[in-house]
Amino acid sequence: MPYLYETHMHTCLASACGRSTGKEHARYYKEAGFTGIIMTDHFFGGNTAVNRELPWEERIDLFWSGYEDAKEEGDRIGLDVFFGLEQNHSGDEYLIYGLSKEYMKAHPEMEHWTRRQQLEEVHKAGGCVIQAHPFRIRGYMDRIRLCTQFCDGIEAANLGNEPLDDARAFLMGRELGLVMTAGSDNHNSPVPGPFGPYGVVLEKRLTSIQDYVRIILNKCNIGLHVPEERFILPADAEPDARHCAFALDDQERDILSAKQWMQDS
Ligand SMILES: [Zn+2]
Ligand SMILES: [Zn+2]
Repeated sequence: MPYLYETHMHTCLASACGRSTGKEHARYYKEAGFTGIIMTDHFFGGNTAVNRELPWEERIDLFWSGYEDAKEEGDRIGLDVFFGLEQNHSGDEYLIYGLSKEYMKAHPEMEHWTRRQQLEEVHKAGGCVIQAHPFRIRGYMDRIRLCTQFCDGIEAANLGNEPLDDARAFLMGRELGLVMTAGSDNHNSPVPGPFGPYGVVLEKRLTSIQDYVRIILNKCNIGLHVPEERFILPADAEPDARHCAFALDDQERDILSAKQWMQDS
């Protein structure tokens, strides 16, 4: 029996752009037939709702409140709720799974980790890092940054993306043999569209977030719960996407600008 999980979502308690409470999300996903959800509010490098002037431990308590709100309702209605976070560097964002509240309270320096430190320290702490929506480009970003060397996998499908961004991510992931996940980036339940939320389909039920971390680090089978046509690349877009993937083989550059690369190629 497959088990369905949301891997990417935000609450209004901890994300400035969040609209739903944790409880509202939990009720919606339970009704949609999900086994569980992983709350990934925007951390302090991104669009956090937490006041950066507050003492560190207080900030961590507030940051966890979105997850805790969902967890309380999940426990009541029978939905598994796990904790994660989404950190922003220069517009490129990372879903981080497997950190505890105690760990975060003890590591205020995590706010200033570089991408490399982030991967190393999260691994040391028993967690993993997934680059979120790698091909998304928005007004607040100067370029696409593909940082596969600083993550354990990529989010191939994101409900908030343009479909072409997901098709490119999937093509890149397949070419490079990357671990791929899917999520809704849900800020406001219910999500738009007839399909419902995106997510991952797992063969075993998660008993903790560490189970999910192990699945990613061990490259176990992860099913993607997305519409069938999501990864179909329009013929005219194919060359660009292929160039993006090849650019990643260049080890000399830590951060590759796919957009620049496409223009150069
Ligand atoms: Zn947001
Ligand atoms: Zn997000």
